[in-house]
Amino acid sequence: MLSAETLAYAKSKIRDIPDFPTPGILFKDITPLLADPRAFHIVLDSIAERFIGEHVDAIVGVEARGFIFGGALAARLNASFVPARKPGKLPAKSDRVSYKTEYSEATLEMHEQSIRRGSRVLVVDDVLATGGTAKASADLVATQGGEVVAYTFVIELSFLKGRAVLAPGRVESVITY
Ligand code: AMP
Repeated sequence: MLSAETLAYAKSKIRDIPDFPTPGILFKDITPLLADPRAFHIVLDSIAERFIGEHVDAIVGVEARGFIFGGALAARLNASFVPARKPGKLPAKSDRVSYKTEYSEATLEMHEQSIRRGSRVLVVDDVLATGGTAKASADLVATQGGEVVAYTFVIELSFLKGRAVLAPGRVESVITY
């Protein structure tokens, strides 16, 4: 377990941007955290230590910020990395799902057969807001016969109650507001 001071350091590198991308949204900008090697390490350590020995086969990272953390975690946990992408980006035949986010309607796609049947999967994104994106990713995993072991986030906006949308799934977040 990382100390409260260590986590506070990582939290200090998250910047609030009011009214982005639309009025009323307080955007949690992780670019200062990514620019700070210590803070980036802290976040990766905090997530990775929760899953060491849990036999994670694959990590599904959600475009675009989920790729950054998901890719680094896949390397640490010796798991495959599978991108869940916005429509029209993936070159091969894909499964697709549509859903609602905190501020928009969206669709996600994943290449067909990118999750082996019975695989243990971690869904990774930067922010848990209403939970729609993570739930949609889990639906894609389920379509392909994978089992979602947990949902993991750098930031959880707990007042939006995304955790309830993902219940009874396991939710792990590093920093909660
Ligand atoms: P949701 O589906 O509502 O849980 O929204 C999660 C997705 O939207 C994630 O991919 C986040 O990157 C993004 N997102 C939602 N709300 C915010 C926010 N306040 N700050 C930064 N990113 C957000």
